[in-house]
Amino acid sequence: MRLAPDGVVAGARFVASPNCDDRPPGTAISLLVVHSISLPPGRFGGDSVERLFTNTLDESADPYFAGLRGLKVSAHFFVRRDGALVQFVPVGRRAWHAGASAWRGRERCNDFSVGVELEGADDRPFEAAQYRRLAGLARALQAALPLTDVAAHSDVAPARKTDPGPSFDWPRFLSLLASA
Ligand SMILES: [Zn+2]
Repeated sequence: MRLAPDGVVAGARFVASPNCDDRPPGTAISLLVVHSISLPPGRFGGDSVERLFTNTLDESADPYFAGLRGLKVSAHFFVRRDGALVQFVPVGRRAWHAGASAWRGRERCNDFSVGVELEGADDRPFEAAQYRRLAGLARALQAALPLTDVAAHSDVAPARKTDPGPSFDWPRFLSLLASA
């Protein structure tokens, strides 16, 4: 995998999200934030995450979706259960994934991070294909960006968020990342 100069990863399916804007000028991208998501939670394989990130979710399709009305969110990347990679926002732009957040005392993590969503739920193990894809993606990002840290959404917004949750195997991911 390789990050092209336009901030899009070759090999990802690109679906443009309007939920992004410019990073503050001169901001180094130093943090990778790992998330998990499924809509409704625990149901995999549909297009609802893609719809949420493109503001096209049919709010009548599931009772859970009513609570998402008006939400304007995105992530740079989404890793499906089979490892397929979708990109919504070029890396140079600011995606809206972390919300109110802080990492090592620095607030507004969206300014200086890349957000990756794994298709999943807090109580379900992630797939081997997802670990492989996430590690490959992280390596491609490391090769192109001054990344220094990887954090969970629950690390940067501990009062609000639990993802990617206890099922995410950090040692497994970090050893894959190191074995490049
Ligand atoms: Zn999250």
